[in-house]
Amino acid sequence: MEDKFGHLISYLRISVTDRCNERCHYCLPHENQEWLPREEVLTYEEILRVAKVGADLGISKVRVTGGEPLTRRNVLSFISELCSIDGIEDVGISTNGTLLTRNAWPDSDETNATALKRAGVRTVNISLDTLDQEQYAKTTGRDYLQKAVDGIEAAVAAGFEKVKLNSVLMRHKNEHELWNLIDFAREKGALIRFIELMPVSSAEVLSEDNFLSTGEAKKLIEFKYGQLTPLPDFKTNGPASYFQIPDTGQIIGFIGAMTNFHFCETCNKLRLTCEGKLRPCLGSHLEFDMRDVLRNPGLNDDDVRKFFLEVVARKPEQHDFRENYQPGRRMIAIGG
Ligand code: SAM
Repeated sequence: MEDKFGHLISYLRISVTDRCNERCHYCLPHENQEWLPREEVLTYEEILRVAKVGADLGISKVRVTGGEPLTRRNVLSFISELCSIDGIEDVGISTNGTLLTRNAWPDSDETNATALKRAGVRTVNISLDTLDQEQYAKTTGRDYLQKAVDGIEAAVAAGFEKVKLNSVLMRHKNEHELWNLIDFAREKGALIRFIELMPVSSAEVLSEDNFLSTGEAKKLIEFKYGQLTPLPDFKTNGPASYFQIPDTGQIIGFIGAMTNFHFCETCNKLRLTCEGKLRPCLGSHLEFDMRDVLRNPGLNDDDVRKFFLEVVARKPEQHDFRENYQPGRRMIAIGG
């Protein structure tokens, strides 16, 4: 699928739940903490139907996200079915990592990490903004740093193709920890990426007090590690720019949605929210109700296919985050 700006769409992010066991303030603001009623959330069968039609149209990569995807019941069986769809070559998951060491099934010792690997998941992205227990608890609303670290170790041990750590940059909160986070990623064998805060759930996150650009973060990192070498050919299917630390050879990434003006040029993504809205862009209010199509007995897969193509045709050239964007939907309810 190609839109009118030349974006080639091959990647679908699927949110399976808006529920989460953490409460990150930039994702789920305090004043806005209600979950969707279950009947509004797409069933696994409905999501698999969307994925199959998407695969026919050229979607080859899928990432399961949320909320926290590992909080949804039977998500492993769903992921296993997703991995077996013809044409879907690469399935990943985004998680806060805290449930990766939990048993996957009531009557077995297999953990979520090993069960995901066995299901066919190739990459695991784990959020980790800080290694300071107190800061972790403040940012996420939960004292789960050790669970997240155990989860990262379990993911690395499970042998996924890639384990990526996603650190959201926050001035005064983790800017003094960037070196520690980099060292931690190297020791664990994970690929770390630093992400700029986006005003998805709340515009307040972009205050002078809070926002730290990838450019500033890069300078802070270079202060200790020397000049980073750009790696323009190193790609992981998303918008990150990668650099190498000359002395250690370690690769680190930056995701600068707010300050990188070329950010949207190679966007290949659509997002499916857990209640069935298909969104052509994270940073635009456009969203289209696919659940109505899926639940209409008079409509078939051809109608789902047409719907996909109509949404792709509406994909904007770039996101609106720099244009006084007003948050309309919490990140947790979109799927990061
Ligand atoms: N619970 C899973 C996790 O922790 O990865 C999946 C969902 S979470 C919404 C996905 C990613 O979005 C996380 O890495 C999180 O840090 C990021 N995120 C959430 N709100 C954000 C914001 N306002 N700006 C930048 N990144 C954000």
